[in-house]
Amino acid sequence: MKQPEDIVGGGPTSPLAFRQAVGSSPQARANPIRLPPGISAEVFQTFTQRAAAICGDENVVIISNSDELNHESYLDPSKCHDMYHVLEDDYFISSAVITPRGVPDVQDMMRLCNEFSVPVWPFSIGRNVGYGGAAPRVPGSIGLDLGKHMNKVLDINVDGAFALLEPGITFLDLHEHLVKNNLRDKLWVDVPDLGGGSVIGNTIERGVGYTPYGDHWMMHCGMEVVLPDGSLIRTGMGALPNPKADPSRPPHEQDACETWQLFNYGFGPYNDGIFSQSSLGIVVKMGIWLMANPGGYQSYLITFPKDEDLHQILEVIRPLRVGMVLQNVPTLRHVLLDAAVHGNKKSYTDSTKPLTDVEIDEIAKKIGLGRWNLHGALYGPAPIRDAMWGVVKQSFSSIPGAKFYFPEDMPDNLVLQTRHLTLQGIPSTTELKWVDWLDNGAHLFFSPISKVSGDDGVAQYKMTRTRCEEFGFDFIGTFVVGMREMHHIVCLVFDRKDPDSRRRAHKLIATLIDDGAKNGWGEYRTHLAYMDQIAATYNFNDNAQMKLNEKIKNALDPKGILAPGKNGVWPKTFDAESFKVPFQ
Ligand code: ADP
Repeated sequence: MKQPEDIVGGGPTSPLAFRQAVGSSPQARANPIRLPPGISAEVFQTFTQRAAAICGDENVVIISNSDELNHESYLDPSKCHDMYHVLEDDYFISSAVITPRGVPDVQDMMRLCNEFSVPVWPFSIGRNVGYGGAAPRVPGSIGLDLGKHMNKVLDINVDGAFALLEPGITFLDLHEHLVKNNLRDKLWVDVPDLGGGSVIGNTIERGVGYTPYGDHWMMHCGMEVVLPDGSLIRTGMGALPNPKADPSRPPHEQDACETWQLFNYGFGPYNDGIFSQSSLGIVVKMGIWLMANPGGYQSYLITFPKDEDLHQILEVIRPLRVGMVLQNVPTLRHVLLDAAVHGNKKSYTDSTKPLTDVEIDEIAKKIGLGRWNLHGALYGPAPIRDAMWGVVKQSFSSIPGAKFYFPEDMPDNLVLQTRHLTLQGIPSTTELKWVDWLDNGAHLFFSPISKVSGDDGVAQYKMTRTRCEEFGFDFIGTFVVGMREMHHIVCLVFDRKDPDSRRRAHKLIATLIDDGAKNGWGEYRTHLAYMDQIAATYNFNDNAQMKLNEKIKNALDPKGILAPGKNGVWPKTFDAESFKVPFQ
């Protein structure tokens, strides 16, 4: 059983002291800021030498000094810690970051981690900002950086409208690949708000985008996965060998069944789900469906003047979305989210307190928006778009004061111009700007799922806004409308250099999780610091689902080395209590 005392330099403050003590002398470089739990410095040295023999010396970086923590921008993200840290910056941190060169290296690394009982945290790019970035749940784990070398588009199939990708392919890469190969007139990628993350990481974490293909997990098809014991599987139709495959090639290089990316389910139990938000496998290839270029596109913005409009807007949205008149994943944004993209808080006010309704209305007026602002798009040839727009416009016109815009009506509206790109699958990083609402801005998401209903939306808005203000923060949020539900994304911006701001942010999210559970609301995804708490809210029938998850975890990963604690699933080899996230 691994206890925190086994972590050399364990406890939230001592790693810093250890870091200062070791400095950066050449010999001390081999000592990480944090060792893996239960692993001595000597054993760690042997482990990293063995890892270097597998992946090459240059692909093993020991996180031994604070220089490694200085990568704090989305464009140059940290690969070893949570750069938007709500705890101390060296709490969620890896002992070493290892970059496998291909599937066999990943398999060998899993075998090595099993041999040494060293926990390993895989990531693709590490731009999972707001949810922990590249950082591991267990301090001192090995970070396995899959994206650096495994970064190929393996296939683009135009007839089947899909891509087969390695972990290092970002949304931006995939889009550029289509453009470079003159395929953009045929195929579009669905992209999230920020285009720098990996398609695989975002998809298996069940991230969303905004075209009709916005549910990324729904649109994935077929995976190749390294299991915790180092074995390799292909899911769905990938389990059926291609009779033309060259048997002399290693399995990961063999041609797959031609329907691998066309039919998700294969035969027998459908395994893919256990590799999503999970600690049961490392995804080394994944198929994703691309959207056929619809042959016409028009984005739009509808603004609504009053806070109280929220109820009616959601009631109008529901039948349109279920009926697919709203073809894409529309977003209903609170005005402060757009305001924060256009400028920081100081550019609007001297107030350091949460903004009042009057102040928010002034800002809305200044930037020419409503209190709530709906971004959507129409797809298809002109007659189809015109017909859809007629229904959309008529439906929302029932809300007094609703105004309708196309991008050309507001050339200076940065958000509208960016959404115009995003909703047709062109990635950007403009939305990063709202993180600068406060100095040293960092963010955490609170993301409960809601019914598409006026009552639910208003109740969630009231609860989250009241709590945000109680803890001294502005409410910044958006409702992202899926096929039958909404992801209500509350974007909490805090000052990561101000311990008080961090403390309040930490407490606020923890409070909201409890508030949400009391109302029957659960979150779809979360930051490392809240995984245990949220997992504990999904506790139907005496935690029956967690018991199942633990059973599967212990069966597939008896040593518990792959991402222990991810999404609250702790293997039997770890004492979860000992890894409880501290409150300052
Ligand atoms: P992004 O690609 O958006 O930058 P990350 O690479 O940070 O996102 O991945 C987010 C999380 O998803 C990781 O912390 C890890 O838990 C999981 N993950 C990412 N890529 C893989 C993968 N290839 N195999 C298994 N888990 C992964």
